Amino acid sequence: HHHRAAFEAAARGFVGGKVPLGIKRKGLRIVVTGGAGFVGSHLVDRLIARGDSVIVVDNFFTGRKENVMHHFGNPNFELIRHDVVEPLLLEVDQIYHLACPASPVHYKFNPIKLLLTNVVGTLNMLGLAKRVGARFLLTSTSEVYGDPLQHPQVETYWGNVNPIGVRSCYDEGKRTAETLTMDYHRGAQVEVRIARIFNTYGPRMCIDDGRVVSNFVAQALRKEPMTVYGDGKQTRSFQYVSDLVEGLMRLMEGEHIGPFNLGNPGEFTMLELAKVVQETIDPNAKIEFRPNTEDDPHKRKPDISRAKELLGWEPKIPLRQGLPLMVSDFHKRIFGDHSDAKP
Ligand code: NAD
Ligand code: UDP
Ligand code: UDP
Repeated sequence: HHHRAAFEAAARGFVGGKVPLGIKRKGLRIVVTGGAGFVGSHLVDRLIARGDSVIVVDNFFTGRKENVMHHFGNPNFELIRHDVVEPLLLEVDQIYHLACPASPVHYKFNPIKLLLTNVVGTLNMLGLAKRVGARFLLTSTSEVYGDPLQHPQVETYWGNVNPIGVRSCYDEGKRTAETLTMDYHRGAQVEVRIARIFNTYGPRMCIDDGRVVSNFVAQALRKEPMTVYGDGKQTRSFQYVSDLVEGLMRLMEGEHIGPFNLGNPGEFTMLELAKVVQETIDPNAKIEFRPNTEDDPHKRKPDISRAKELLGWEPKIPLRQGLPLMVSDFHKRIFGDHSDAKP
């Protein structure tokens, strides 16, 4: 059953995922699961711009056609409505596996489905990679470190995760997805890559997905108070989406399996983040304290030495530079205008 992909690959002059770096090649055929979502759609833009053919596989749970609509009509772009929990047959060279809602509001909505997406969905995409000899990249998460006892988090840290809490479907689901990925690598020689993504923000984020950057920005634009959970002293490190996409592509094209932390080490408390949002949108924006959610990690900051050294990657866009780019997108989507008028 390897024959068709091998034949197609040979016809195009290379074998899936095994193109030596530096050799000029024809466009690849690439699947992006979750490609209609926030991160996926930015990745698709870059791949299409590079001249590759992209197949987006998405069930539109949190993704939107609007995020990829600008590629409709491009012969190098295909969109398939499909749930990765069901098997899927395609002939491709690379698989970027992103399908999975990333916001707690969405994943707590149906934790069993979330777990199935992470486990069975990842299994199916690995089975696909194995069958056609494609290279497979998993977008895992900093959540695999749980409420970390090591700071900043290095890839060799095994994490501190509650297996029975409300976040477990996500944390443990991604940990299992990493395990499956490594077992397919060891057992079936699938070429794999693992990224551990830290909090990422930017245009096209779901507006009401409950994540802190999207919440604060939407609240400040709507003249509602910004909701700080707990005492606001917990920290996160916020990465602009274009930096992440660059890291994912370098990881896929490079020679190293990972896992690699991909995040911006710039660390902020939620109160500091609220202050940056005030500076960017509205100095009079109010803050309102709310009780924190269960199992909320106290701090999180990536150690990115490994990605720096082996991928030659580091983020370029600090929060104060990236936030305005997201704000103008949110402004358009919330108020439906296309002017640059300040809120
Ligand atoms: P998102 O919710 O915007 O995108 C996820 C996409 O997957 C959506 O388009 C959704 O419709 C699709 N999807 C969900 N379940 C599916 C299923 N069963 N079958 C097919 N498609 C499905 O989230 P995002 O922020 O773009 O995250 C992308 C990936 O990056 C996820 O795997 C997420 O876990 C990971 N990640 C993101 C962040 C972040 O800060 N954004 C941090 C860590 C990890
Ligand atoms: N799979 C898929 N597309 C493919 C090949 C496999 O969706 O092109 C699914 C398949 O249905 C199975 C999973 O991936 O549920 C794992 O496949 P694998 O061949 O590794 O395992 P097996 O089918 O032998 O149990
Ligand atoms: N948070 C907050 N106000 C909000 C939403 C989230 O203070 O309106 C806090 C949340 O408690 C957590 C941090 O912001 O400490 C990051 O939450 P998010 O859901 O964005 O990401 P994650 O917890 O997955 O890192």
